[in-house]
Amino acid sequence: MSQSHAVPTHEVATPTIPLRELAPWALLFGLLGLIVIFFVSADQGAVSIPAGTAIHEWVHDGRHLLGYPCH
Ligand SMILES: [Zn+2]
Repeated sequence: MSQSHAVPTHEVATPTIPLRELAPWALLFGLLGLIVIFFVSADQGAVSIPAGTAIHEWVHDGRHLLGYPCH
């Protein structure tokens, strides 16, 4: 008695995102990233948004990584 245990095949449809639909979101998050980088670079530099050194300390390694003058 031979029984074949065939593995059922399920085809999984991979969603595709057209570049035309993806571009505005990429632009939005790119601009948000630039704003974040601006505030990281500006804190304790020319402009410090909140008083104190909290943001500077949080992003200190990132400042060095990006080459901003620090100390
Ligand atoms: Zn430093």
